[in-house]
Amino acid sequence: MMYDTWAPLQAVLNNGPHYVLDNQKIWTDPIAEFNMACRISSPIRAEFYLAPQADSLLVRGNITGQVILPCVRCAEDTRFELDEHFDTFEPFPAADSAAGKPPDPELDEYFIRLSPLGASLEINLAALAWEEFAQALPGRPLCSPDCAGLCPKCGLNLNYAQCICAEENPDPRMAKLRGLKINQ
Ligand SMILES: [Zn+2]
Ligand SMILES: [Zn+2]
Repeated sequence: MMYDTWAPLQAVLNNGPHYVLDNQKIWTDPIAEFNMACRISSPIRAEFYLAPQADSLLVRGNITGQVILPCVRCAEDTRFELDEHFDTFEPFPAADSAAGKPPDPELDEYFIRLSPLGASLEINLAALAWEEFAQALPGRPLCSPDCAGLCPKCGLNLNYAQCICAEENPDPRMAKLRGLKINQ
């Protein structure tokens, strides 16, 4: 799979510290695999600067693009501009592996690992690009901060119209929401 591509770290670093990943399959493959309600509406681009430290790799960069996600309250398609900076240290797994200890699942060995032959370190830049994308997505996507959501009874989108469910069965929370709208 595209986003699970390992490359020798030394070879990557030999090409210079700056990388741009823009193969959309890095993001569209896992979106499809995890069945995520997310569409890419403007190409995603991940930029990396890699700087090796004594026991880790400094990974600095940014991710940009645009996605469409359903609003968590009304389910309407909503566009989100992604423009996130990241700055992380990815630990080298060498120390533990050399001591013959099993890999520590808490360590980010998903991004940097000892090659299957144990001879060199390998990095998975595409997996990092996916991770940064997933973290850049809004946790609770909203079409607008004051989205009124769907009526829990009839399912009507209350941003466009008012149903009669609330009138039939007065709910103090709904009254409060209507009050907020009137005040604007
Ligand atoms: Zn909404
Ligand atoms: Zn209703």
